[in-house]
Amino acid sequence: MSITVVGSIAYDTVTTPFGERDRMLGGAAVHFALAASFFEEVRVVGPVGEDFGEHELDVMRNRGVDVSDVERIPGGKTFFWRGKYGWDLNSRETLDTQLGVFEGFQPKLSQASLDSDVLFLANIQPDLQRDVRAQLPNARFVALDSMNLWIEAARDSLVKAIKECDCLILNDSELRQLTGKASIYAAAREILEWSPPHPRVIVAKQGEYGAALVTNEGFFSLPAFPLERVVDPTGAGDTFAGGFVGYLAAHSDQEYSEELLRQAMAHGTALASFNVEEFGTDRIEKLSGGEIVARVRQLREFTQFSAAAEPLRD
Ligand code: AMP
Repeated sequence: MSITVVGSIAYDTVTTPFGERDRMLGGAAVHFALAASFFEEVRVVGPVGEDFGEHELDVMRNRGVDVSDVERIPGGKTFFWRGKYGWDLNSRETLDTQLGVFEGFQPKLSQASLDSDVLFLANIQPDLQRDVRAQLPNARFVALDSMNLWIEAARDSLVKAIKECDCLILNDSELRQLTGKASIYAAAREILEWSPPHPRVIVAKQGEYGAALVTNEGFFSLPAFPLERVVDPTGAGDTFAGGFVGYLAAHSDQEYSEELLRQAMAHGTALASFNVEEFGTDRIEKLSGGEIVARVRQLREFTQFSAAAEPLRD
């Protein structure tokens, strides 16, 4: 079932302890779309400026992503983000954000994008997320990501946007900030108990520590795939979301059972691990489906154990 994603299409300038890259292709919608394209047809909705290159569009086209709803704004400048990471790759400093064409952006969706069964609302202004959500009232599965900026600046709109979705995917610190709960599990449980409607699936992204899944049926957690070398974590969260939502979209003939959600978590985790191996979209551009399957199998081996049968000393 095809997927529509709305969110940033960006130029990113990134410094990590392993190097620096200037104005590389980035943006939440781009990282998501490239990852989800391993599972299903993806349509990207978002604005770019006159400075946005054909080569960057080709990166998405080469993975079969439909870019016909990428809107080029005459005279506009593409969203720009500059960030810096230290040795702790879990925390980063945002040095510059230039909204450019995102200022005044009104999403226009083609009929093909409106007909998608699965929708991902990547991190953008929550009122824009709600606008797009309202245009796909019959979508079978809608997931949303956000960030600290919107929790601070537009909390009421964000809460409304979250309530209109099936699945919330947030960083652990953002879940704490949104609910005021110290425990990620308690934060997720609180959102599952918001007055209806509310999402029924909560995913807490924990960077290099992995990701946790909380539903009314249960709890599941996976570590990040162990890597000896991490080069650039930018977009790992969106790549995770692309793998997670992409896997669900590819299996939407089935119920969103706990088992299916766990498999989706494994695919999101595997995809995210590839993303961080090189700068920007470099690694995902070269990735094969076979490599993803192999890494999911390894992840399964790393996380299996059997409970001791013998009684313990009291
Ligand atoms: P992640 O590392 O998964 O949180 O995603 C980073 C990506 O999000 C980068 O490619 C940025 O271009 C994009 N990004 C950063 N800040 C914002 C923002 N305020 N709104 C939308 N996208 C953003």
